[in-house]
Amino acid sequence: MRVAVFGVGYVGLVQAAVLAEMGHQVTCVDVDAAKIERLKEGIIPIFEPGLAPMVQTNHQAGRLHFTTDVAQGVSFAELLFIAVGTPPDEDGSADLQHVLAVAGAIGRLMQGGKVVVNKSTVPVGTAHRVHQHIGGILAERGVSLPLEVVSNPEFLKEGAAVADCLRPDRIIIGTDSTHAMALLEELYAPFNRNHDRIIQMDARSAELTKYAANAMLATKISFMNEMAGLAEKLGADIEAVRKGIGADPRIGYHFIYPGCGYGGSCFPKDVKALIHTASEIGCEAPLLRSVERVNDRQKHRLIERLHQHFGSDLAGRTFALWGLAFKPNTDDMREAPSRVLMEAIWAAGGKVQAFDPQAMNEAQHLYGLRDDLTLCGTQEAALKGADALLICTEWQQFRAPDFELIQRTLKQAVIFDGRNLYDPARLRQRGFTYYAIGRGDSL
Ligand code: NAD
Repeated sequence: MRVAVFGVGYVGLVQAAVLAEMGHQVTCVDVDAAKIERLKEGIIPIFEPGLAPMVQTNHQAGRLHFTTDVAQGVSFAELLFIAVGTPPDEDGSADLQHVLAVAGAIGRLMQGGKVVVNKSTVPVGTAHRVHQHIGGILAERGVSLPLEVVSNPEFLKEGAAVADCLRPDRIIIGTDSTHAMALLEELYAPFNRNHDRIIQMDARSAELTKYAANAMLATKISFMNEMAGLAEKLGADIEAVRKGIGADPRIGYHFIYPGCGYGGSCFPKDVKALIHTASEIGCEAPLLRSVERVNDRQKHRLIERLHQHFGSDLAGRTFALWGLAFKPNTDDMREAPSRVLMEAIWAAGGKVQAFDPQAMNEAQHLYGLRDDLTLCGTQEAALKGADALLICTEWQQFRAPDFELIQRTLKQAVIFDGRNLYDPARLRQRGFTYYAIGRGDSL
């Protein structure tokens, strides 16, 4: 089948690559000309395990095309995917300008019937709004063409995006149209062989399903972080509590890790957008507001600990920071807890020597050259002359480090661990002062 994908970010590029991998013909359209040029040369703008070879192979095989020419994208296929960003507006609502820009272009350029498939995370009612928008432009042009707008939210996890798209847990298709449904069933058939993963519903429910899923996951994290705060004060160990509650199959072990807060491009913005939607319809959403408040506070947990240990003035202090990405296996630093921590250290006069296995270019891009940030080539190099080690991301290579080397290299054997990677008793035995999240013993 032929498909055009508008927006080649984390969602659009991965989706395009896996569709091409299955043999479909895919044209990717983006307004970022530099990104498109690099993709044509085989340079992949983001880090996702397995993505680069998949994009390169399918591009070379002639199944995956890149262009900035919107008209080319619109005429290429009947199925047009929208996968552009929906960043938060100032009031927390999802900013639909990019979605509507693509919709507008489709309306101006389409010559035959189209099925527009929205993959971006958008407020309930957006499929209808996009349909109206395109329909309005067609009416202005004085043409009448078949048009369907489907909601097909994306559930991939950054860091495992390729694997998630190859083997999705579910494929939500929000449409009442049998024609659109048949096209999407055919498109997704290669991903739906083992068992039926397709769940059809109306577009509004599909749109809400995406927000509900992210809000539930964010809630689990904030719940655990609230419990971690209690554990700390009560002299209990949240890691023992986590195992204790996870053993109940109604709760389960997934996604109940305490830490220094959730970040990324999705949870913070989607929780905000859902709160905004709720307030627009006169609902309070007190639970969602608390989830957000707990998370904002949690992102400051490590800096509070740092001040308790070193005092409020961090001038003359240097801190080794392991992990900049908001989670492992990605280079994405959007809303990452590391940023809150670094910026608070700088505000208090301290310096940071940071290392991340993938996010160094992103950090350079975000912060540029500054005296109080050194981006180090290895995790060991970041330790040199530092007063303490801080950990913000649970990359695997941080799990079993050379503790003797850490002890020898740091000025003081102090670790502030935002991801509970180590055993507090063992670290204390080795002579470390070890601060973790919600571990009473580390108080
Ligand atoms: P992104 O910022 O990585 O990529 C968006 C791309 O869209 C950029 O390359 C941008 O240049 C392009 N773009 C903007 N306006 C355009 C236009 N008019 N025409 C063509 N291209 C245009 O965003 P992302 O992380 O891929 O997210 C896209 C959407 O998917 C968002 O709504 C997001 O909430 C949702 N989503 C993201 C994830 C994730 O993990 N990143 C997961 C599920 C859903």
